[in-house]
Amino acid sequence: MDFSTVTLSDEDRAFRDELRAFLREIVTDEVIRRDRQSGENFDEGVHLALGKAGYLAADFKPEGEGGFSPIRKRIWDLEIGRAHTPWFHWGTTAMVARAVQQFGSTELQDEVLPRVLSGEYRLCLGYTEPEGGSDVATCKTRAVRDGDGWIINGSKMFTSNAQNAAYVFLITNTDPAAPKHQSLTMFLVLLDRPDVEIQPLRTVDGDRTNITYYSDVRVEDRYRIGEVNGGWTVLREALNDEHGTVERGDDGLQKIATMSEHVTLLAEAVDKVAALAPDEESVRFRLGRAIARMEAAMSTPDMFGRVANAQVMREVSPDLMDILGTASSLPVDEKGAAAAGAAEYIFRLAGPTGIYGGTLEVFRNMIAQHALGLGRPRT
Ligand SMILES: Cc1cc2nc3c(=O)[nH]c(=O)nc-3n(C[C@H](O)[C@H](O)[C@H](O)COP(=O)(O)OP(=O)(O)OC[C@H]3O[C@@H](n4cnc5c(N)ncnc54)[C@H](O)[C@@H]3O)c2cc1C
Repeated sequence: MDFSTVTLSDEDRAFRDELRAFLREIVTDEVIRRDRQSGENFDEGVHLALGKAGYLAADFKPEGEGGFSPIRKRIWDLEIGRAHTPWFHWGTTAMVARAVQQFGSTELQDEVLPRVLSGEYRLCLGYTEPEGGSDVATCKTRAVRDGDGWIINGSKMFTSNAQNAAYVFLITNTDPAAPKHQSLTMFLVLLDRPDVEIQPLRTVDGDRTNITYYSDVRVEDRYRIGEVNGGWTVLREALNDEHGTVERGDDGLQKIATMSEHVTLLAEAVDKVAALAPDEESVRFRLGRAIARMEAAMSTPDMFGRVANAQVMREVSPDLMDILGTASSLPVDEKGAAAAGAAEYIFRLAGPTGIYGGTLEVFRNMIAQHALGLGRPRT
């Protein structure tokens, strides 16, 4: 690992400045305000503009095929976060697109991937079910053979951004009698159809997500991703991506911990609170401790970092609200909100951050079991 400071070449500096100016133009105050109100973490105009300018393709492709160099990828990740770009839907889209690339037929790749890179198609995740999401392999949504296609029935919880996506990447059960990891088959299911219902759901931090219902949905076999009953192999790759357990290069340029973009928001809140807080020793101590914790969390790799980031948000945000007093409990854009409501927003965001993509308890179990070798937890 190389810890030296990175010196940007003139070309890379020009790339950064151009990207910054582009983001300033498309991620307007109005876009940010609308995103906060809708809770969608997505803006179609911004997404299409990034696709048209070739940024989505450059982020998706390897460097040898026209993708960003490691240094530009780092600049890209940082600038997207700094601009407060509504962004989460690209994460799920890229994750599913990689599964299509790896396990889908050539015909399906040709149909889906160019439109993903142009921004036109977005893809969402249909994993979690009403009866429980932590154990994703326990899937009750059924897919049954019907001639050369399949009939799907079931429902999924928290299908985030289904309202903005062309397809959902759906886990189905194709063999209820088989052991659960050998019973799954993955499909890409078109969402804009009468037999799929999308019901909106709001979380405590104001995020918009959905419950989705599938009633006798007919899907052609070419929309199957991977082998019949081989869905776990497909899913494992996508889950590694989401959990942040993918291999990293040793150039030190990749994002160290998944979801560290939330800690960037927390860092902005700490700055705002520091500018307003009374100059007292206890306040200096608490802000200093907050900054040390954030630095440590952002430097923690893999699934350890996933836990550390959510945990630091949960620990620091109440401290910030405590420092500023009751006015800090008013939300963003509310008259009289301390530090423009920044700490209150992080406080509400910290809960779901420790849930989506896997809860902190489940991650801690995974760390204990797989990283520390402590064996399976007793239930
Ligand atoms: C804002 C938001 C967006 C989301 N977006 C998506 C999405 O786009 N697509 C999607 O498919 N899902 C999505 N999810 C769902 C998310 O992945 C699940 O909520 C999560 O995996 C937990 O599943 P659950 O809610 O069913 O809780 P459960 O699995 O029912 O867990 C309930 C409680 O039990 C604990 N628990 C469960 N199992 C264990 C265990 N083995 N050991 C210790 N404790 C355990 C959990 O930590 C939790 O506290 C989203 C969730 C949120 C909040």
